[in-house]
Amino acid sequence: MTYRDQAPATCPRCNVALDPGERGTLKCPECAGAFATDDIVREMLAELAGVLKHPPELVYGPHAKPGLLTCPRCVALMQSAELFTIAVDRCAVHGTWFDHEELGSALERALLVAEPVKEGMGSAKEAALVGGITLAEIAGIAWLIFLL
Ligand SMILES: [Zn+2]
Ligand SMILES: [Zn+2]
Repeated sequence: MTYRDQAPATCPRCNVALDPGERGTLKCPECAGAFATDDIVREMLAELAGVLKHPPELVYGPHAKPGLLTCPRCVALMQSAELFTIAVDRCAVHGTWFDHEELGSALERALLVAEPVKEGMGSAKEAALVGGITLAEIAGIAWLIFLL
């Protein structure tokens, strides 16, 4: 048993202390990067269910680039991974680091590739247009509630 999890978490890019967000998320006040557990990212995807028939599944794909950043929780080198075509950095134990806008972009991508939406509607994109908001705004709503 180690107590490293209790050490103050610092940004893997700026090395400044991260601000704690909702339920274990961390956010950098300098670069606006964010660290989130898989559970939280899954909940963000579930938030998208408001416009989608089924929330997209959280599946990280491999990414060829070697990881360069260290996990803010355990300081181990993170692995590069892909989430909805967006390259992110991941600690298998603690969660995923998203650089500024990577999380929003990944959620936006999730909307674009997802199974289209509720009955009688077309794609998520069309549904968003009907609702007068952009996919980026929908994605933003999904993650802002955890990271504000
Ligand atoms: Zn930072
Ligand atoms: Zn870790």
